[in-house]
Amino acid sequence: GLELRELRLSYGTTEVLRGADLSVPSGQTACVIGPSGSGKSTLLRCVNRLAEPESGEVLLDGESILHANPDRVRQRIGMVFQHFNLFGHRTVLDNITMPLRTVRGLSKVDAHHTALARLGEVGLAHKAQYRPSALSGGQRQRVAIARALAMEPEVMLFDEATSALDPELVKGVLELIAELAEGGMTMIVVTHEMGFARRVADQVAFMDRGRVLEVGTPEQIFDSPETLRLQRFLDQVR
Ligand code: ATP
Ligand code: MG
Repeated sequence: GLELRELRLSYGTTEVLRGADLSVPSGQTACVIGPSGSGKSTLLRCVNRLAEPESGEVLLDGESILHANPDRVRQRIGMVFQHFNLFGHRTVLDNITMPLRTVRGLSKVDAHHTALARLGEVGLAHKAQYRPSALSGGQRQRVAIARALAMEPEVMLFDEATSALDPELVKGVLELIAELAEGGMTMIVVTHEMGFARRVADQVAFMDRGRVLEVGTPEQIFDSPETLRLQRFLDQVR
């Protein structure tokens, strides 16, 4: 499992993480909700070594990842962002084979084979030779997910993976994330989709001003919020 302990991080005088804790057992999905600026993205970035907390720990199966090789960490922990970070001048297939070759060290043939298999799983094998610009936003996001999965990560992080998509494209991407959850992937999913969180999460964490203020089952969080701040947040978003 994944354990985030007492994470603290400041940018200048702004304390962005103020002792954030979250524990995700293997095979479970934690959805993180909370107001804009509460530190959700920063929390995920610490887990993927894109940001360095000043103190605290991130443990994967009991082992600190904060002192491990960042490339190795990113192989074990895949991340999908709001804006699909695909290389626009390369084909969809190249986007997936490149990290397979450089990071996982696969041969050209093996990388090709793996990439096509992953693309097939997200229903996009027929788009392998296209540029990302020729794909819809939803398709691009599915390519980004396929690319992350091709690394065979133990954990997947999603940072508002659907919030840049047109409404009609959101469902397909959420379905894909839900399937991963059902398949037993360990995941942290930052999302504004409360219906999705209720349906898919094993636990929901409410972040507020740099802390996980409340954590519980979807029923606890959505039906019986304990703090006034969570009650107010839920009133605003639904
Ligand atoms: P949103 O829901 O809008 O995505 P968030 O909960 O993901 O918000 P973060 O992106 O983690 O919030 O940002 C938390 C705070 O940290 C914000 O006040 C933001 O302005 C600040 N912040 C984030 N990254 C940086 C940075 N690189 N430099 C300075 N301040 C930053
Ligand atoms: Mg964010």
